[in-house]
Amino acid sequence: DEHGFTLDEAVVTFFAAPHSYTSQDVVEIACHGAPVLLDYVVRAAMQRGARLAEPGEFTQRAFLSGRIDLTQAEAVHDLIAAQTLQQARVAAAQLGGAVARQIAPVKAQLVHLIAELEAGIDFAEDDLELMPQANILAEIDGIRTQLTALATTYSYGRIVRDGFTLAIVGRPNAGKSSLFNRLLERERAIVTAQPGTTRDPISERLAIGGVPVELVDTAGLRDAPTGPEGEAETLGILRTRERMAEADFVIHVIDATTFTAGALHPEDRATLSSLEGRPHQVVLNKCDMAATPRTSNVYLDTSAKTGEGIDALKAAILTALTGAAPATDSALLTNLRQHQAITDSVAALDAAHHAALDLIPHEMLLLDLHCALEALDRLTGVTSTDDILALIFSTFCIGK
Ligand code: GDP
Repeated sequence: DEHGFTLDEAVVTFFAAPHSYTSQDVVEIACHGAPVLLDYVVRAAMQRGARLAEPGEFTQRAFLSGRIDLTQAEAVHDLIAAQTLQQARVAAAQLGGAVARQIAPVKAQLVHLIAELEAGIDFAEDDLELMPQANILAEIDGIRTQLTALATTYSYGRIVRDGFTLAIVGRPNAGKSSLFNRLLERERAIVTAQPGTTRDPISERLAIGGVPVELVDTAGLRDAPTGPEGEAETLGILRTRERMAEADFVIHVIDATTFTAGALHPEDRATLSSLEGRPHQVVLNKCDMAATPRTSNVYLDTSAKTGEGIDALKAAILTALTGAAPATDSALLTNLRQHQAITDSVAALDAAHHAALDLIPHEMLLLDLHCALEALDRLTGVTSTDDILALIFSTFCIGK
C-alpha cells in the first residue's frame, strides 16, 4: 500500500500478443479474493492509467482481432450462462467454431459460383463459354440444401439455450401432482386424495435430457363449486388456462382407471380439442391399476406411483419439441440472429434460383447471390454493423 506495507502476494501473468484471449498483450493479476483487496488493486491500476472494461470488451477485442467469429463470441456468453451440462456442451462446441467450420465450405462454393458468373459477364464478348443454366441451378440448390439443413438445427439449439415450459393439465385426481413430483423426482406439490386441492399453478425448474424446463402444475380443470369456497378454485382454473396458453408443451393427464376408449369425459374432450395443433402428449396415468395396458400411438401409459412410462414420456417431450437431437459437436444455431442470417441467405438463394430458371441476365442473378453471401458474412460477423455488435456485447458481463 502507500505506506509500503505488503498486503498480499499475487500471481501476475503476462500473455504476449498474439497468444492471449484478446490477441493483444494481456496482464492478469491473480490475488486473494477479499473484496477490499480486489478493490484496492483495481483502484491502484486505475490511478496508473487503466480503466474498467466495458461488458464483453475482452471478447469483443478477440472478435475484432479476428481470433474468433461472432458465433463463437456468442458462445462465450452462452457458456457462462449455462445451467445444465448439455447447455455447456452445446456452447463449448460453438465456441470451438462448429458453425464457422460448417459455413466455410458452403461460403467457398457460393464465392466460386459468383466468380464464375462474373467472369462470364466480363468476357462475354470473347466468346467464353457461359455456365449452362442446369449447372447454375444445381450449384444454387446444392448450397441452399446445406443452409436449410443448418437452419433446422435452430429448433433444437433454441430449446437447449432457452429451455421451455411444460404444463400438466387434466381432471382432478388424475394424478397431475403425483406426475409433477415424479418428473421432479422429489416431493413438491401437495398430493391429496381430495379432488380440487391444488389451487394455484406452481412451477419448478428441472432438466430433461439436459434441457432446462419450467414445469407448471395446474389446478384441476373442472367446474368449481359455486359460493365462496369455489372462488379460489375458479381463480386457479383461470390461471391454469393462462399457463396452458403460454406453455411450449402440455401433458394432458387422464386417469386410466376411469378411462374407456371412445367415451372420453366431456372435460377431457374439451381439453383435447383445445390442444389440437399444439405440442402435447396425452398420458393414461395410474396404469399400474388399470386392468389391461392400452398402449397406443396417441396415449402413453404412465404410473406416477411406480415410475413406469416416465422415461418414455420425457423422450416423447424432447422429440416433439426438438426433433431428434443432433450430435452435440455438430453446428447448431442457438439464437434468433443466427437463424435470421441463414434464412435470409436461403431466401436470396431462392430468388437466385428463380432468376436462373427465368433466364434473367446474370447481372441480376448476381445481385441475389451477393445478398446470400452478405447474409452468411453477417452470421459470422464479417459484415455486422457497429450497433449490432454493441447490442450483442452489451449483454455480456464485465470482465468477459
Ligand atoms: P391431481 O388432482 O390430478 O393433482 O392428482 P394427485 O396427484 O393429487 O393424485 C390423486 C390420487 O391418485 C392420489 O391419491 C395419488 O396417490 C393417486 N395417484 C396418482 N398417480 C397414481 C398412479 O400412477 N398410480 C396409482 N395407483 N395412484 C396414483
